[in-house]
Amino acid sequence: MATIQRTIRDNGICVLTFDRAGSSANIFDRATLDELREQLDFIETPSQLKGVVLISAKRSIFIAGLDLKTIGENSSAKEVREIIELGQNLFNRIATLKIPTVAAVHGVAVGGGYEISLACDYRIASPDRVTKVGLPETQLGLLPAWGGSTRLPRLIGLPKALDIILAGKTVASQLALKLGMIDDVVPAENLTAFAIKKIRQGKPQRKNHWFVNNPLAATLIEKKLRPQLLKKTRGHYPAILKAFEVVTRGISKSIPDSLALERDGVVELAQAEACRNLLRIFFLQERAKKLSVAKIETKPIEKTAVMGAGVMGAGIAQWLSARGLPVILRDINAEQVAKGVGGIAKIYRDGVKRHVFNQREARDGMDRIFPAPDEIPLRNVNLVIEAAVENLELKKKIFQRLDALADDDTILATNTSALPISELAASTRKPERVLGIHFFNPVHRMQLVEIVAAKQTAPEVLQRAVKFAQQIGKLPVVVKDSPGFLVNRILMPYLIEAGNLFEAGAKIENLDEVMLDFGMPMGPLRLIDEVGVDVSLHVAQTLAAYFGERMRIPAVLGKMMEAKLLGRKNGRGFYLHEKSKEPRLNPRVASFVQNQTGAGFSREELQERMVFLMVNEAARCLEEQIVAEPADVDFAMIMGTGFAPFRGGPLRYADSVGTEKIVGAMENLVDRGAEHFEPCALLKSMASTGKNFYGN
Ligand code: NAD
Repeated sequence: MATIQRTIRDNGICVLTFDRAGSSANIFDRATLDELREQLDFIETPSQLKGVVLISAKRSIFIAGLDLKTIGENSSAKEVREIIELGQNLFNRIATLKIPTVAAVHGVAVGGGYEISLACDYRIASPDRVTKVGLPETQLGLLPAWGGSTRLPRLIGLPKALDIILAGKTVASQLALKLGMIDDVVPAENLTAFAIKKIRQGKPQRKNHWFVNNPLAATLIEKKLRPQLLKKTRGHYPAILKAFEVVTRGISKSIPDSLALERDGVVELAQAEACRNLLRIFFLQERAKKLSVAKIETKPIEKTAVMGAGVMGAGIAQWLSARGLPVILRDINAEQVAKGVGGIAKIYRDGVKRHVFNQREARDGMDRIFPAPDEIPLRNVNLVIEAAVENLELKKKIFQRLDALADDDTILATNTSALPISELAASTRKPERVLGIHFFNPVHRMQLVEIVAAKQTAPEVLQRAVKFAQQIGKLPVVVKDSPGFLVNRILMPYLIEAGNLFEAGAKIENLDEVMLDFGMPMGPLRLIDEVGVDVSLHVAQTLAAYFGERMRIPAVLGKMMEAKLLGRKNGRGFYLHEKSKEPRLNPRVASFVQNQTGAGFSREELQERMVFLMVNEAARCLEEQIVAEPADVDFAMIMGTGFAPFRGGPLRYADSVGTEKIVGAMENLVDRGAEHFEPCALLKSMASTGKNFYGN
């Protein structure tokens, strides 16, 4: 079955419709590129053709870009170069056609999908939510190399193009229009007619961005931006620096020379470990979108209720309402309900500002929230998510009430961070419908959701919850019920160790700095401030109750609680947080320990101590089969905590260091009295047999 269908309309308008058989997406694999070549052979043959329109028949995708499998793990530099050249040549042929060309975009046009549009004379796009254009390549450790790095700056000017390319941004139609990335926004049903109108107007005259695109200006921009980029990436994201170099140098070269820079750049990047790891995460995301745990057809969730209108309850309710679901938002405290609704309204307002929603969508979303300061029946509600305070006895009481209020087949889920769900389930009338659906904070930013199977959870309930996570656009990872589940359990020893090292004399700023250098999005002590000292301490205590000595809680957290230093929420924690200012060190916390001398820890030692504890806990989670495989751990840690993505996750990182070295270093620490470094059995056996987590 061909992907590209050609029709000739209105006396000589050639419409190429992309419609890949058996898939909801169009992508550029080799076969599609070959088809495009054949179509271009036809179009270039002298004829009466007046213009070309590119359009997609898919509901939510124009063209999603290059088939990433073609440059994945097993591709050689030669193969990458070949496929890049192939695309560049085809898009060049489009760019140099004598007749006008229009990309009529509805749905996602990213990477190669936007680059083919850039090769056209005009780009028009539908205003729909599904429509997005952009160049996300740098997020995958690559750079736009099918003309994107060359043509975008020529179209919209160097500064704006760098903003898109270096951040790997994709933007909605209205913003794209404002930036000049597209020329018109046109209702989806009128795209073809409008494209034909454009063709009748002939080839466009484009304005020239000479003032920002000349060599002198490019050098100035490069001088100014390069140090900022180096600082921001800490040398870990070669793609960003390479893309920067290609774009700023390419702008003062001819198009073929600039394309050559793109080609050389991407071939080099594709071989780097960072790119391989980032591509792996991409594929794991795709896997999560399609995940299924049982071959059971389940009904979609249509009506929901959230118990508790605090930080998480409000965040969850907002997300569900934005995804079209009606939500009853219940709290025992009427003031909290009002505050929750206020918080939801703010997320929508900010979303409108950032073009995530339009006014209408935001209003409709708000209309789907039903505030409930009093108990109300929950008839026809398919799913209740409990997000009340973290207290098992309280949660048991709530679930017993839900038992009475909800229909028999309503799923009862808890958003608890660490409490045992099987115990909660056991306190209800129908434990098989109870499970954990654990969202991360802030809900509208974090894509991961842990779907926690209690001992009693029925397979169809689990499957329905997985499908629900996908239905609302989150990425599920299925974990077994165990204290802290997966992500918090692995994160906590790391945060605790940061506290312990602080008490041993390491400086707050050094502890955070070395982990930023490692590639974390935020240092551990700063993260405790963000999460809240109270919440962190509570989770740590829950875990310590189960895992004992291994999670020895540093006294500083208790002292901070006493002194009401709760972190960002009240402006004071390890740092002082003031509105619109960078947090600065809180001198008060340093006075809680004897001497903050740095204690002679080297940078590497600090990093190793904190990271190896995560690796150890991750290995324990595998031992206990909390998840099925190493990739689940790495995926969840990257998506749930931002663990240095280019390192591929804690277990991929362990493989790169070698389990033997890790175990050696840990045993050394145990010998020096730090018993909580005792490596788990799995790590030890791997070290002694020379095995690694992913096989060699
Ligand atoms: P929060 O204190 O902001 O909100 C809890 C809300 O529950 C309050 O508004 C309170 O009035 C309400 N509540 C108390 N008893 C209730 C009852 N019987 N019925 C209905 N509402 C009741 O807490 P939060 O940070 O939103 O956390 C909620 C849950 O989510 C906890 O279990 C927590 O462990 C978990 N969680 C929190 C985070 C986080 O970062 N804050 C992340 C993931 C999960």
